[in-house]
Amino acid sequence: MCVFCNIIKGEIPSEKVFEDDDCIIIKDINPKAKIHLLLIPKVHYALLNEQTELDAITLGKLLQKFSLMAGDFGLSGGFRVIINQGRDGGQEVGHLHVHILGGAQLRGF
Ligand code: 5GP
Ligand code: ZN
Repeated sequence: MCVFCNIIKGEIPSEKVFEDDDCIIIKDINPKAKIHLLLIPKVHYALLNEQTELDAITLGKLLQKFSLMAGDFGLSGGFRVIINQGRDGGQEVGHLHVHILGGAQLRGF
């Protein structure tokens, strides 16, 4: 079982900041910004292009829901969303997840 599935099941500890039926949001263990969260859908897909249409819609809804709660996580000034997809995207964990970065102004992209 993959590392994020184990985190979702509570078998690997994590700093969880949010959970609902569809996702958990945890602090990244190796933060690349002052605030670095990982939004992890509970359904295991390795890659974006493996998702069903319904789960793709759910992911969009999760992002919209997160944007409405961003202030609760210290991100009222804004944030950056990144999905690393596959080898060339630099994906290390094969369970689709969304990086959310912020907490201070990020360098230009
Ligand atoms: P990827 O490169 O796959 O998009 O990003 C994987 C991210 O997961 C990395 O930023 C890495 O620091 C984070 N990560 C890997 N293992 C763990 C873990 O066990 N706990 C937490 N909280 N983050 C992890
Ligand atoms: Zn998984």
